[in-house]
Amino acid sequence: MSTIINNIEIIKAKATKINDVDFNNLKFGHVFSDHMLECNFKDGKWAAPKVVPYQAITLDPSSKIFHYGQSVFEGMKAYKDANEDVWLFRPLDNFNRLNISSKRLAIPELPENYFMDGLKTLLEVDKEWVPKNEGSSLYIRPFVFASGNGFHASPADEYKFIICTAPSGAYFSGEVRVLIEETYSRSANGGVGYAKAGGNYAGQFYPTQLAIEKGYQQVIWTDDNTHEYIEEAGAMNIFVRINDTLITGPTSDRILDGITRKSIIELAQAEGIAVEIRKLSVLEVVEAAKNGTLKEMFGAGTAAVISPISGFGYKDTDYDLPKLDDTYANYLKKRITDIQTNKAEDPFGWRYKI
Ligand SMILES: *Cc1c(COP(=O)(O)O)cnc(C)c1O
Repeated sequence: MSTIINNIEIIKAKATKINDVDFNNLKFGHVFSDHMLECNFKDGKWAAPKVVPYQAITLDPSSKIFHYGQSVFEGMKAYKDANEDVWLFRPLDNFNRLNISSKRLAIPELPENYFMDGLKTLLEVDKEWVPKNEGSSLYIRPFVFASGNGFHASPADEYKFIICTAPSGAYFSGEVRVLIEETYSRSANGGVGYAKAGGNYAGQFYPTQLAIEKGYQQVIWTDDNTHEYIEEAGAMNIFVRINDTLITGPTSDRILDGITRKSIIELAQAEGIAVEIRKLSVLEVVEAAKNGTLKEMFGAGTAAVISPISGFGYKDTDYDLPKLDDTYANYLKKRITDIQTNKAEDPFGWRYKI
């Protein structure tokens, strides 16, 4: 039995799993909602997406995803406000970035209506799964990968686009200590660093494990050429506050164009905080740490929104950041989450109602 909403066919799950879920003790991305969106590319075109029960997928062992890593993804969140209305945050930016990533990985781009109508319909069907608790949200994972077969090292002829959702609690990473990386690189000029490609993450895991063994929680990526400039914090964009100026690097081949990053820049500027978008050298940050002008460092990304850094290691020396009462990190995080959850006005038009 199927129904159709927003032109999207829906095949409902026979039973809901929602009663097994403790919404007061949600981890991040561990339980999955009843349904998913599925859309297949075959014979040169994307077929209409469908909402289907969340389920395992079967792939041929020669599927190109396993061998050549053609896969891209997005990360976004849905929030429920006090009236039980459901909101997304700048979803068209996620759609556009998914296609930018796909293009770089020779994956066929998706039509906007398949992504947006598919996402809307999935969220309408699984509306009950959007958590209400403070800090909680429905984490949304759209992804596209090569499902076509064959060992020939060339782009696949078939792909799958899937959206799964996971009710998730507040992402508390705590204060993290980071290691400024001098050997490994996350990305390079001409590479795929600006794409949300699965392989970018695989390449980060080993250097991050080494940093964890040394007692840090995360790596600060520097430019691949000289390792002299700060680029990203793990899989987040990075902001550094020196005196009262917020500094972040310019997006490039190597630095991912984060939606949280650009929202922070716009918000901070609107609030009269000085923002500089420019190359930021490790030496400048070390100098600022030594002379006391380094006030804050934080990562920015959808999962944690803002993740404060308490100190960093560089060339066998550790530097601590001051413990401030009023941080830009706390202030900007509250401003963004209040807009996301419909607790504050949205002068930028970022919220999107489902
Ligand atoms: C996803 C991601 C970010 C953050 O992007 P948002 O749109 O803010 O979630 C930053 N850096 C990297 C490498 C990423 O993959």
